[in-house]
Amino acid sequence: MLLSSTAYSAPGVTYYGGYHTVAGHEQHDAAVAAAHPDLVKLYDIGDSWTKAQGRGGHEIQALCITKLAPGDCALNSTGKKPKFVLHAQIHAREIVTGEIAYQWIDLLVSSYGVDPELTALLDTRELWVVPIANPDGVDVVASNPARPLLQRKNLDDSAGGCSTGYPGVDLNRNSSFHWDADQGGPCTEMYPGAKAASEPETVAIQGLLAKIFPDTKGAEDERAAASTTGVFVTLHSYGNDILAPWGYTDTAAPDREALVALGNNMGALTGYPVSTGDGGIGYFTPGSTIDWLYGTRGVPAYTFEIGPRTGWCAGFLPPFSCVSSTFWPLLKPALVYAARAAATPYGRLP
Ligand SMILES: [Zn+2]
Repeated sequence: MLLSSTAYSAPGVTYYGGYHTVAGHEQHDAAVAAAHPDLVKLYDIGDSWTKAQGRGGHEIQALCITKLAPGDCALNSTGKKPKFVLHAQIHAREIVTGEIAYQWIDLLVSSYGVDPELTALLDTRELWVVPIANPDGVDVVASNPARPLLQRKNLDDSAGGCSTGYPGVDLNRNSSFHWDADQGGPCTEMYPGAKAASEPETVAIQGLLAKIFPDTKGAEDERAAASTTGVFVTLHSYGNDILAPWGYTDTAAPDREALVALGNNMGALTGYPVSTGDGGIGYFTPGSTIDWLYGTRGVPAYTFEIGPRTGWCAGFLPPFSCVSSTFWPLLKPALVYAARAAATPYGRLP
């Protein structure tokens, strides 16, 4: 089966009761950047796989939101403001996650000069957002608006077709930190790709993060510098968990105690427990985004598995009303907290 995101393009800007298509997110990103030139810089950070193949696809977009001063939101690590990065929908079928990013963008741009706490945040932090980390996959999901398709991976079918299962690379197993070829074959949901960072989506996010965060960490078994700034959260669903490095091993990360302490503070706001390693269930995640960022730059990095495991709002495809009734009220305080903590993530919250 040849997958191309053009063939799967969903009409319109929303699907399944209100969830935003990739086109919907792109329109939104452009609109907030145009309406708030004092607050928003919009970047294309790289191609999706089908775009790189010349088969349709998308640029992957990143927004940097702050009260812009000279030097802010540049693609380098010399900016003065600590950075919080929210990254969503790397697994395309985890459809709530992109909506949380959408809500977060709207909250930030509508609060400057209105809400004192958020105004202070925008004065002192860079809030980076990658709303759709896997746009090709989201095109497939949204192509059946009444019952979204459960595409998890990107659309790289270069390893061959699949008589059972789906082609594509699991972008949360494709990073260049402890990439592990043994995660599964090309038609399994955790196929890590032909080699580390083989996918343009991986190159795009690693490229952005490597530009904006200095490396404050030496060898793998060394701690990050106490002066490290920044926090990174990648949104996944569904569960009720916060995962912290390492994900590839049960060996404790050198900063495990501090990583778990910050995770626990976010967990106190969401009700999610924090785990590392295999989480006690044999579920290792070699090649994950969070291991790569903490392991190569020293930045505290977390996976939020959002959403109730059971009930009306559980599953990959909750009704759209669950975004505003359940997910957003739960996650908003934790995201604000994470952004504040970006100033001294290994220390006490200022
Ligand atoms: Zn996921």
